[in-house]
Amino acid sequence: MFAYFKKKHLLCKMNSLKTTIGSLLSALLVTLFFLSATENVQAQGNSLRPRSEVERVKSTKATESSLLADRVKSSLETALVDSILLRLDAEESHPADELYDSWNTEYLKAYAGVEIPETFTIDVSEFVMPVEGRVTSHFGYRSRYRRMHKGTDLALHTGDTIVAAFDGKVRVRSYDKGGFGYYLVLRHANGLETVYGHLSQFIAIQNETVVAGQPIALGGSTGRSTGPHLHFEFRFLGQEINPAEIIDFDELCIKDDFYMFSKADATSASQKYTAGASHAKKGKLKYHRVRKGETLQTIARKTGTTVDKLRKLNKLKKGAILHVGKSLRTS
Ligand SMILES: [Zn+2]
Repeated sequence: MFAYFKKKHLLCKMNSLKTTIGSLLSALLVTLFFLSATENVQAQGNSLRPRSEVERVKSTKATESSLLADRVKSSLETALVDSILLRLDAEESHPADELYDSWNTEYLKAYAGVEIPETFTIDVSEFVMPVEGRVTSHFGYRSRYRRMHKGTDLALHTGDTIVAAFDGKVRVRSYDKGGFGYYLVLRHANGLETVYGHLSQFIAIQNETVVAGQPIALGGSTGRSTGPHLHFEFRFLGQEINPAEIIDFDELCIKDDFYMFSKADATSASQKYTAGASHAKKGKLKYHRVRKGETLQTIARKTGTTVDKLRKLNKLKKGAILHVGKSLRTS
């Protein structure tokens, strides 16, 4: 656990450092541009490079700055900054190695022993859309089926190419008759796992290392599916994440380079699922449509519950107006 926090903290620092270096470099380049312009005007035909030491001693303030700029240009701009950035990239590229301690090729849900950090910043900057289809079903609780839909469905034609969302490795390549059909689970260096369901054909093999955008399968409609589509999931240490929090499905790109995972948000989503599932099992989920003249008191009496419970179930504040025709949950 401690290692995750340490790592996360390090990541945040490195990212801000990287950003800082980036802005400093930009500022430097702008300065260099103006300095070079000044320099050229003042030089008027004289050979500017190389400069002798004598020239440097006699130089005006402006040319001294130009010299400094030249030095910075050759050292910082090319060698130093490049190496710093490269080193930062290399160090932050494999959080998955520390997050997961097992590699199970049989099951999607193989997260025994993982510790879920309270928050974790995930680098999603290298994301590639697995297939460029419109959303046919969003992530969330499906009251019609009384179960959670843990991914986003994207329209496609059977045989369309599905590509890897990030660099990673194929963990599960399997078949789930009553659910995903033919499906793949990829684990990525950034700590995320992605799930691709209802495939018609595999391209990638188990344990294969893939790069973002590499074809991994062909789309289809296998398993529990009503038509060709890709069921696409993001998971972090087994916790499902709403893909719409990371991807802008209208623009087909990521919303931000970094996604902040929050254990609290993930837990509340799964509690919602559990609550829905248990109600579905017991058949206890009941609703009452508000009629004219009814109050919370009369509805509570009619449905055998209490005003407090109705308020809680429907998130009603004191003094909230009951609109005729509104559906209230009563159990
Ligand atoms: Zn789906």
